[in-house]
Amino acid sequence: MTKVRGRIGLLAQRQKDYVTIRLRIPLGKLTAEQMEGISQIIEEYGDGYAIPTIRKSLEIPWVRFEDSNKVLKELRKMGLSAGSCGRKVRTIVACAGLGHCIHSHRNLEKMYYKLLGNYYMKDTPTKFKISLSGCHLACNHPYINDFGIIATEDGFSILVGGKGGRHPQFGKLIVEGVSEEEVFNILDKTLEYFRKYAQGRERIYEVIKRNGVDHFRGYVLEGVKAWPRDSKN
Ligand code: SF4
Repeated sequence: MTKVRGRIGLLAQRQKDYVTIRLRIPLGKLTAEQMEGISQIIEEYGDGYAIPTIRKSLEIPWVRFEDSNKVLKELRKMGLSAGSCGRKVRTIVACAGLGHCIHSHRNLEKMYYKLLGNYYMKDTPTKFKISLSGCHLACNHPYINDFGIIATEDGFSILVGGKGGRHPQFGKLIVEGVSEEEVFNILDKTLEYFRKYAQGRERIYEVIKRNGVDHFRGYVLEGVKAWPRDSKN
């Protein structure tokens, strides 16, 4: 197995000397030109295919480790970069319809890029995933992200502590009807809380479980106008 520790976007494969390259694709949007470029890369350096991920990105398997820098350079020329791994805020995912879906309460693309600019790759005790949905139909799984944001008619609902994987968890509804500005404040405080109280490699849901949801709510919602609309979760 090739050692890829510390190499952003590279995933080791079982097969020695080969890696999978994970891309970061903001909003999941690829232009025709980028798709052509990726197509050339997978033909030349991969095995002729790429795999879409649940976080609206792409993985290119079967790249020789020795070619990985060259591939990353080619991707950068197309305006693409490698996706995050490790103890960081991971690539922020948004539903496909933020800008155009008939169900989307409003265009949230600007908010998405602000989230990306403010939080992507920030250090956290362990991985931290953020998901933004244009409506409660929740196509991009905000319920199973560490911090899920759902646009509603009167603002945003926030869920915290969801995750997928071997022990899936639904995020807890922390507050409803908050403004965009409050979403950013609550996210700042959530990350602060996570850094302050996580023991070892705990995910945020484990920290909340240990301290109790009221403790968490009290910390992150201090001064927030809309809280607590729901305190049953
Ligand atoms: S979550 Fe809502 S707004 Fe986003 S793509 Fe799904 S239906 Fe459309």
